[in-house]
Amino acid sequence: SGFVSIIGRPNVGKSTLLNRILGEKIVITSDKPQTTRNRIQGIHNLPGGQMVFIDTPGIHRAKSRLNRFMVDEALSSVQGVDVILFLVDGAADPEKEAPMIHEVLAGVESPVILVMNKIDLIPKGELLERMSAYSGVFPFREIFPISAATGDGVEPLVRLVYDLLPEGPCYFP
Ligand code: GDP
Repeated sequence: SGFVSIIGRPNVGKSTLLNRILGEKIVITSDKPQTTRNRIQGIHNLPGGQMVFIDTPGIHRAKSRLNRFMVDEALSSVQGVDVILFLVDGAADPEKEAPMIHEVLAGVESPVILVMNKIDLIPKGELLERMSAYSGVFPFREIFPISAATGDGVEPLVRLVYDLLPEGPCYFP
């Protein structure tokens, strides 16, 4: 069990993925989002474990214009997260992701999975090439292709995340 954050530029499909993972399972929304650094977005339950999705507000503020203060704030907002899902639009130019990868992920110690979304828009023959474009950019734990829209790859991704989480119960922030 543990804490997971989905981060990435606007429109890469973060909320589509979260809704796909949680389905009907959304149980908690924080009643005081403005007074807590990390808001609980929802909880995924398995018989053997629990995955708590938390929002990282510092990341959202850092995405438009990166300066030292905002990067520090972004970093502190992902502290305590066990696994980070860094979502990208697989059909977009990998160069577009470079600023966030370098500025925000550089100081992160938790495992980061590069989730390449929207693979339904990519010709089959281009998938491997597009995935390998990210391999040298950052030491991602995995590079994982999915389509949040069709659900393709989402279940294997959830299993992978559970494997990376610490065992035992979850303590809410
Ligand atoms: P967010 O801003 O990162 O939360 O992105 P959204 O979840 O709001 O998605 C942005 C747009 O991309 C919406 O129009 C979604 O329907 C679309 N989208 C999300 N996932 C996929 C996908 O896997 N394939 C395609 N073709 N579109 C997607």
